[in-house]
Amino acid sequence: MDNDLTRLNKTNKRLEFPIKLRRLLHLKLLALFLLAFVPTSFAYAGIADTYPQVRDFFPAADRFGDIEGSPPAAPVYQNERLLGYAFTTGDIIRIPAYSGRPINVLVGIDPKGRILGARIVHHEEPILAAGVSEARLKQFVDQYRGLSVNGHIIVGGQREGYASIDAISGATITVMVINATITRSVRAVAESRGITPAASTREGATAEPAAANLAAPPAPVKKAATPSPSKRAVAREKQSAPQPPSQIVSAAPPRTTEPHLYEIENEEPTWLILWKQRKLEIALLSLGLIILSNILLFHDFLARRPRLLRRIRLGFLLYTLFFIGWYGLGQLSIINVLTFVQSVMHQFSWDTFLIDPMLFLLWSFVAVALLLWGRGVYCGWLCPFGALQELVFQLARKLKLPYFEMPHVVHERLLALKFVVMLALFGISLQSMLWAIQAAEIEPFKTAITLRFHREWDYVAFALGIIVLAVFNRKFYCKYICPLGAALIIPGRFHSFEWLRRRKECGRPCQTCAVECEVQAIKPTGEIVVNECHYCLDCQVTFYDNNKCPPLVERKKRRERLGRNPETGGAIKPEPEQKISLNKLQAGISKANSTTKQDESDTS
Ligand code: SF4
Ligand code: SF4
Repeated sequence: MDNDLTRLNKTNKRLEFPIKLRRLLHLKLLALFLLAFVPTSFAYAGIADTYPQVRDFFPAADRFGDIEGSPPAAPVYQNERLLGYAFTTGDIIRIPAYSGRPINVLVGIDPKGRILGARIVHHEEPILAAGVSEARLKQFVDQYRGLSVNGHIIVGGQREGYASIDAISGATITVMVINATITRSVRAVAESRGITPAASTREGATAEPAAANLAAPPAPVKKAATPSPSKRAVAREKQSAPQPPSQIVSAAPPRTTEPHLYEIENEEPTWLILWKQRKLEIALLSLGLIILSNILLFHDFLARRPRLLRRIRLGFLLYTLFFIGWYGLGQLSIINVLTFVQSVMHQFSWDTFLIDPMLFLLWSFVAVALLLWGRGVYCGWLCPFGALQELVFQLARKLKLPYFEMPHVVHERLLALKFVVMLALFGISLQSMLWAIQAAEIEPFKTAITLRFHREWDYVAFALGIIVLAVFNRKFYCKYICPLGAALIIPGRFHSFEWLRRRKECGRPCQTCAVECEVQAIKPTGEIVVNECHYCLDCQVTFYDNNKCPPLVERKKRRERLGRNPETGGAIKPEPEQKISLNKLQAGISKANSTTKQDESDTS
């Protein structure tokens, strides 16, 4: 009997455990169910917990209220006296910056309508990741302390009625977006809470510290739940699309549970302001693109005039390097391509692409050029780093420095490397754009063009190494490594026209152009590989050269023999160029023969 009882107890104990587990599970489910109905504001951690930096704006505060109202902001108190409001701009306005993503700024304002402080808590700006330090960025936003919330703040300039703050050199777009983000957000919060600033300029820049605001009488705060639209800023609720996963740079990311954003009425879009400010650059770039279009359309005319073409090309490459690159910072990058892909996959917005007029115009032109001519127009004429390599190579030839070319078989295999680099970057960008930005340092563009070599020595050494390579091998980086070049090849495959001329003798037997093309974009069989061609037009000059192109030389000689040459009056005198051409013809014949043998042995 005892034994039976003991057995029963043991069995009961064994059964007890799963019952407890089930009860616990039910309780958890109930808690989760109830949590789903808790008001959103309770679900957020307090602003001071998420962003402890906010205490710097309100050193005397003893309580931070919940983030609430429309637009959302947390009231800040000392002894129940209102000291001001704290909020993050990501909850109010999201202006896409250079990276295509908004910059999130933590801001505090007081009831007198002054900005008590600003701190960037999240950004993905490549220019900043590349060279401008976080400290420099902090210095920039520190300038807002003490300014009025009325939004009349101008970056890097002077205008009557505006407070002026210093820009960050080389980060124009980023700072303009930060300025628009801060000024519009503070205005939206101030006006929704009935805060009317007394003055419109930097009257508060040296004003009393935040603690002095204790004396300020609390301003009438409108009930946040029923926002009352004011004349200029209206908390117009706008359904926001789901945000892509964000990378945290300095602190917590913007809250993504908040489904609403706010638009400021009667405000010019930020991109439009930037376009107006860069009218001169836009005009000069448009002029350059018109000139280039004419060069491309009338290249036959220019190819018959080699000296003129050489001068025009040299001038254009200098324009590309100095104006588009070093002055206008119009260097396209694989990051632009990855940002575009991310934008299409998540939340496409024209604002993202319009924010930089130079890049927008260049990309628009390149998109059309890719379909008409292929990748060569950008790589041969518009890429500042490409122009730098080309100019260095031309200078080296003037100095008669030696150079080398890869054997055709090695060259063909190395061409694939840039696609591997591009695919690797694309894969990384799917995981994290910030990682992709760092991995994209394989592009020396930021060092050599955007930051004009003002960077840590290892980056500078890398960029200089690539330029030195370009001295001995024409555009080595472009041919084998550049991920942007690879990305341009893909749409370039669909180009509709074959503009570059060939003869039936090209390749078999003549190798003159193939030997002369140091980019190695002409196959030994004579065809131009459009995907690899940089549109330098050298082969087109040869194509029309009566003294260089062997079939033309032959034709000329035949005409001369028949006495039809008005220049020589029938005299047949071999010219030095002819000898060179014939030598090249012979070299070409033997090269073609050896390639044919190679092909035959490969096939066998
Ligand atoms: S391959 Fe790359 S670096 Fe070279 S010209 Fe093209 S985009 Fe510029
Ligand atoms: S020589 Fe001809 S094929 Fe070679 S890069 Fe220049 S334009 Fe293209």
